[in-house]
Amino acid sequence: MERDVFMSATEAQAHELVDLNVEHDLKVNTSGGLGFSHVDNLGKYLGVPLLHQRVTKETFQYIVDNMRKKLAGWKSKLLSLADRITLAKGVLATIPIYAMQSTKIPKGVCHEMEKIICNFGWGKTEEKKGLNLVKWDYLCKEMKNGGLGFKKFDCLNNAFLMKIGFNLVKKTDHLWVQVLRVKYRWKGKLPISLYEGNTSCLWKGVCGFWSMVRDGVIWNIGNGASVDFWRDNWIKDWGPLINSCTKPKCIPKQHVPLKDFVSPSGDWNWPILNSVLPRPTILSISAYKPPSVHDRVDSARWIWHILVPQKLRVFIWLGLLDRILTNENRVRRQLTTDASCMICESSLENIDHVLRFCTPVVAIWIYVIKVEMR
Ligand SMILES: [Zn+2]
Repeated sequence: MERDVFMSATEAQAHELVDLNVEHDLKVNTSGGLGFSHVDNLGKYLGVPLLHQRVTKETFQYIVDNMRKKLAGWKSKLLSLADRITLAKGVLATIPIYAMQSTKIPKGVCHEMEKIICNFGWGKTEEKKGLNLVKWDYLCKEMKNGGLGFKKFDCLNNAFLMKIGFNLVKKTDHLWVQVLRVKYRWKGKLPISLYEGNTSCLWKGVCGFWSMVRDGVIWNIGNGASVDFWRDNWIKDWGPLINSCTKPKCIPKQHVPLKDFVSPSGDWNWPILNSVLPRPTILSISAYKPPSVHDRVDSARWIWHILVPQKLRVFIWLGLLDRILTNENRVRRQLTTDASCMICESSLENIDHVLRFCTPVVAIWIYVIKVEMR
């Protein structure tokens, strides 16, 4: 029974929330005996509903109602189109933002809110029909691309949840991160998947976008002390090396830092690597500079945080996903039949070739990277 009773007490009031399966008499006795009033729902905490049941459209109906309440106070027909757009963007569209930072809002609710904004923007009311002169999708384009810069609520909600996912990786010194990591059995620096048992709405939201968060995280190898050689995703295309190991039984259960695979001379410890990994993986590792004690600590970064122009971020993002139209990818898409590099006549023009190994590219890298960094 203890497990089923959850209590919340504030200075002003004390509430008791009892599991639906608990008998009525028992509920009355516990609430009477303890001096709590019995409720079916704990309401909100810091403005966000405390959710203990399945999230439905009704759970977030209050946001839609708030929007409608706001609208009721405005004399829509006295406002110009420009006024309505300003109000829609600056006031209506901001109402759901607080709630969507921590929970996945059902798509139906997002659509309903977008419809309210659209109708208000185009001056439609229950009595007055109007025309949507421009589609919602178009209004959601950035202003520089001809839209009005509205945000699609569903996408915005997803972005907030991905941000929580990234903070779970990055902000390990925050108490909330430590609590969630322990509660949901977080393993390693960047787990392949998250615990998906009986979890909170926030966690469910993060789980839904975890693979996208993982795809966007890059490990900056520094001193190699914190990235796990076997279990972290630090080497492009191979995923965690534990899956490529030729002697899986030799892999210790505990964290094995990258620096343990560096020889005293500072190079990768090739004899050890050759004894546990296949040749193609070894070749990929050879493209990475071995970690060094003189380097800064390893860190996770999100490509969208790199301080470069947006077009470069998009290029890096496409590169990480291997979607750049190299000849190898063009053959895959049947745009050509020749996958070789036209510049150096190498047999295969793939992403590694284009960015690292093609003869003129190597010359650029030699030019820009200091000797001691090579
Ligand atoms: Zn080439």
